Amino acid sequence: MIEKKYGVVELMAKSEDSDKVEEVDPLEAIFDEFLQGPRVFLRRDVLTDRFIPDKLPHRNEEIKVLGYTLASVLRGARPSNLFLYGKTGTGKTAATKFVLNRLGEKAKDQGFELRSAYVNCQTVDTNYRVFAELCHHLNVQVPFTGLPSDEVFSRLCNALDSKGGFFIIVLDEVDALVKKSGSETLYQLTRINTVLKEAKVSLIGISNDLKFKEYLDARVLSSLSEEEVVFKPYNAVELRDILEERAKMAFIEGALEDGVIPLIAAIAAREHGDARRAIDLLRVSGEIAERKGSTRITTEHVKLAMDSIERNTVKEVINTLPLQSKVVIVSIYKGLHDRKGNVVSSGELYEIYQDTCKELHVDILSQRRVSDLINELDTLGIICTRVVSRGRYGRTKEIQFAVAEKLVLEALKSDSLVSSLF
Ligand code: ADP
Ligand code: MG
Repeated sequence: MIEKKYGVVELMAKSEDSDKVEEVDPLEAIFDEFLQGPRVFLRRDVLTDRFIPDKLPHRNEEIKVLGYTLASVLRGARPSNLFLYGKTGTGKTAATKFVLNRLGEKAKDQGFELRSAYVNCQTVDTNYRVFAELCHHLNVQVPFTGLPSDEVFSRLCNALDSKGGFFIIVLDEVDALVKKSGSETLYQLTRINTVLKEAKVSLIGISNDLKFKEYLDARVLSSLSEEEVVFKPYNAVELRDILEERAKMAFIEGALEDGVIPLIAAIAAREHGDARRAIDLLRVSGEIAERKGSTRITTEHVKLAMDSIERNTVKEVINTLPLQSKVVIVSIYKGLHDRKGNVVSSGELYEIYQDTCKELHVDILSQRRVSDLINELDTLGIICTRVVSRGRYGRTKEIQFAVAEKLVLEALKSDSLVSSLF
């Protein structure tokens, strides 16, 4: 092995006098340029998800409700369960962690340890795994699979009772758990205090899905939402403050052109009010400025960053869809493109869809199923649809892309399953 390696080194050394060697390592030049070249970032990590801010502007009201509700634990009373909901990027996770950290410090000052567990149900998404994860928090080892989930639940209860005191359980993105595995876990956890003898549990359920309440059993819902906090999307003024706070830490002084933050805040407020995506846009703008060798981030970089983010999102969403959804997108593309219309009707689409399936040798789904797929694509933001009345011919659905057609085409062309059609 080693000999072989030396062999390679020798080969490269021999050609050193020709200028071929430089081609062997194109990265060195990039790294050097990066080290010496103009910089805008002081701390890029401040603009990533890993960073936990110690201030949350414009979330005082929500933080106060959390604080009031949970503070009862300091006086030995079980806090009410809390249910937080609002769209993604509205600060639900950040505010919850913020309050729990502060409460933990306060408890320590008072001479006791506050026990809490944070579970992200996007990844921990079955009954078994939620209970097992909670056991691990209490230092009780449970195998990753194999036991009946009731057994894991009873081990959890035993562990809690043997420690006594209060235990706060955060179920973040709990809508994902219920959609995947039903509401059994929540049902058991909302009733856990009737089983426990020594310990007391409070739940904090967090949902990104505003309609989540409709899926829940009335008993579970009323128990979970003893207190309810709604997180609203941020407006442009609020986003400006949040971004300015971050930018102070993230960038070298003077690296930001004046108009950049107001522009990002305005775009983000208009499109979603999501602080995460606003912060992402600021970071990508900085990355593009650096890549272009600029020492200032300008509104031009913001526009380039928007294109780049949209392109990546469209690609990622389309590439991860199941084959049938991709076939539907191809059919919409054909409908709009080949027939040169602005919209394609659901009837026309189904005809094109059938032809596309034949071309690709895939099964043809019923019109009803295709209609479900269309609704899913609408929810994902790839297309938008509108129901229109055609007088005595009844109603039809008009479909168009919600994102630039050229991005859809790029994504389809890069997809191994359907690219053969282009
Ligand atoms: P959610 O849980 O509602 O989807 P997060 O709490 O994860 O949203 O917030 C998304 C991102 O935006 C995180 O990086 C968070 O730090 C940041 N963020 C949200 N709200 C604020 C705020 N009021 N001040 C500062 N940063 C915020
Ligand atoms: Mg969250």
